[in-house]
Amino acid sequence: MKYDTALLHGNFEGDTNTGATLIPIYQSSAFGQKTAEEIEKIFHNKAPGYAYSRISNPTVASFESRITYLENGLASVAVSSGMAAISVALLNILGAGDEIISKASVFGGTLDFFKDIEKLGIKVHIVEDITKDELEGLVNSKTKAVFAETIGNPKLDVTDIKAAADLIHSYGLPFILDNTTATTYILRGIDLGADIIINSSSKYINGSSNSISGIITDSGNFKWTEEKYPVMGEYLKLGKFAFTAKLRNDTFRNFGCCLSPMNAYFNSLGLETLGLRMDRHCKNALALAEALENKAGIREVNYPMLKSSPYYTKANDILGGKGGGILTLRLYTKERAFAFINSLKYAVNITNIGDTKTLVIHPSSTIYAHSSEAEQAKAGVYDDLIRVSVGIEDIRDLTEDFLSALEYVNEKLPF
Ligand SMILES: *Cc1c(COP(=O)(O)O)cnc(C)c1O
Repeated sequence: MKYDTALLHGNFEGDTNTGATLIPIYQSSAFGQKTAEEIEKIFHNKAPGYAYSRISNPTVASFESRITYLENGLASVAVSSGMAAISVALLNILGAGDEIISKASVFGGTLDFFKDIEKLGIKVHIVEDITKDELEGLVNSKTKAVFAETIGNPKLDVTDIKAAADLIHSYGLPFILDNTTATTYILRGIDLGADIIINSSSKYINGSSNSISGIITDSGNFKWTEEKYPVMGEYLKLGKFAFTAKLRNDTFRNFGCCLSPMNAYFNSLGLETLGLRMDRHCKNALALAEALENKAGIREVNYPMLKSSPYYTKANDILGGKGGGILTLRLYTKERAFAFINSLKYAVNITNIGDTKTLVIHPSSTIYAHSSEAEQAKAGVYDDLIRVSVGIEDIRDLTEDFLSALEYVNEKLPF
């Protein structure tokens, strides 16, 4: 199946009971069984079926299996947010005294979460990139995983997934990849060697910003061992199913971060047009970046597919020429950045990405408010920078909107 066909038909046949083309919303907390024996079997994973929606639910399960197909994974667990996906995926394999390594350019909320787990005795080492030089001095017997994003948000640096995976595997470690900003439209992390894929499905997968959610997809390829991952306990004997089985029956279930059936339904609906939308997001973002580049009053336009981007070659090779839907602009001062945001007509000033509508934000005063200036700089955040999540509007309207905002700011606040 080609990609756009897989979005509609991959692991999905509609509702086989009624012929409905979409999955019904099983808005039910619990599922009764005829006999005590049946419910016992379900509780022990000895029979298929549903017991309680904190553990699994048919509408959520349908969304999970569609994502598993698209990611080419073994299994997925959908959760209540992208942050829940990151936190339970990591806590599924970590214990006090363990260490992980993460790229600096990760999402602000992820950096905040790293501070939380430091308090639980888990050390997080931050690196600029996943290279031998960077990892060499850091990896030790306590290191349990390496974390990165495909396209850093908002640094927009590109991770060479295959090279990173090969390197991480050479240390016997799993590669956990947050692919939210790229999505399977741009690349499939598992095919390139990533072991666990994280998506904040609140973003492009959902597409219309109507539900917060996340999903974790396990490739089943990483060999978890008793020696290195004692916290995985009895699940280790399940081999390639160990990670997902522990997540489903233990970490995810007990942290209670389940996804509501309604939100899973909205995600499945959004998923069907992901290819169409991403195509437009990428084209609009490149066109807008080109229209703004080298204009007076703009210090810098960052977009991976701009020839001036330090990540252009990687974006061409690794992202197949598709730069994603996010760009950033630097406008010389915070005052100019604020005035620019305030004078945009269509772009909504909001903390989100991946909507059909164009969204802007000043990351330094919002998403990265809890990070120091040095941490912000490492993540590519400066006080004159605005992040634009380019929507699917007609590009002529977007270009006109951004150029008039620039003209207004240049007049009012000369740089
Ligand atoms: C938004 C985002 C998250 C967090 O997702 P939520 O659904 O908001 O919890 C994680 N990673 C990336 C790259 C994101 O953009």
